[in-house]
Amino acid sequence: MNRIFNFSAGPCTLPLGVLEQARDEMVDYHGQGMSIIEMSHRSKTYEAIHNEAMSLVKELLSLPDNYHVMMLGGGATLQFSMVPMNLLHGGRSCDFTHTGAWAKKALADSKKVGKVNLLFDGTDSSFTTLPDPATLKPSSGSAYLHLTSNETIGGVQWQDWPDTGDVPIVADMSSDFLSRHIPVEKFGLIYAGAQKNVGPAGMAVVIIRQDMLDACSPDLTNYLSYPNHVNAGSMLNTPPVFTIYMMKLVLERLRDAGGLNFAEKAAKQRSDLLYDVMESHSSFYNCPVDASCRSRTNVVFRLPTEELEKQFVAEADAKGMSGLKGHRSVGGCRASIYNAMPVEGAETLARFMTGFAKQHG
Ligand SMILES: *Cc1c(COP(=O)(O)O)cnc(C)c1O
Repeated sequence: MNRIFNFSAGPCTLPLGVLEQARDEMVDYHGQGMSIIEMSHRSKTYEAIHNEAMSLVKELLSLPDNYHVMMLGGGATLQFSMVPMNLLHGGRSCDFTHTGAWAKKALADSKKVGKVNLLFDGTDSSFTTLPDPATLKPSSGSAYLHLTSNETIGGVQWQDWPDTGDVPIVADMSSDFLSRHIPVEKFGLIYAGAQKNVGPAGMAVVIIRQDMLDACSPDLTNYLSYPNHVNAGSMLNTPPVFTIYMMKLVLERLRDAGGLNFAEKAAKQRSDLLYDVMESHSSFYNCPVDASCRSRTNVVFRLPTEELEKQFVAEADAKGMSGLKGHRSVGGCRASIYNAMPVEGAETLARFMTGFAKQHG
């Protein structure tokens, strides 16, 4: 076996122990004579996994009883539609922060459904910074304020949350879900694609507070309605059983390792290692992101020339560190270091970065 360090932005590296357990259980799940992905989703065996996966999300985030967890197909992208369709009906309006490529997509879909007030637009600063949360005041009558907690492509991450009073925050947490503590009570709805921090692709975890659920549009078709999914315990239709099974294994391990305390500490360790190298070699590496909002899960950086960036990515790849090429829309380099990236992976990359800067700087 020859596992490399995979810095891909998503799908991304998963805990080795989870992959091994899934392999061992695949052909004959706990004496059932079939795999988990072959049996009825209404079977007792599957149902236990399904419910445990949702319970683990609740437990890890210490969600109060008035929050519901859903596991929905369609990824985070379907949530760009479902959020406004459920919550922006009947002429309601919401507030938005435009902080990068993912916020832009969420914003575009919301505008097709309802009225959107833009509270912050990072276009002029090329999305290298975030607003001071203290300056963000929701519009009167706003149904919610939408933000993207971590911009996976731009590498900016919210450190503090705006004080929005009675207006709930709705957050796309796809790329930093369960990587740190959050003040849950500020959020009316949280959604996250599974394939960054909790498992394989194919699903989003959606967390909704009871008052938001009560305010959802009654006029949507079956699959698009949050209340229908909550009422059905995320079994409205055949759920993405493999992704849910894998998520359960990932979250069990996270819980056993120490939950969000552990995740937050490890995210800080990994990202500090990389930002420290950039600081020590600041004439070679340039992090375009404002120091106040640098991401702990997607670390973006530039080298002096595009030629050197190409060489950096190729040499790293040859040394067993893959996926370091920046997103095609922005270029440069990016190290995605989600929960499953061992600190050792960041150490190995930091050593390589130091050597590369010394050699070429
Ligand atoms: C990856 C990502 C998405 C898209 O997720 P899909 O599951 O592919 O739809 C949305 N928002 C953010 C912040 C992401 O990182």
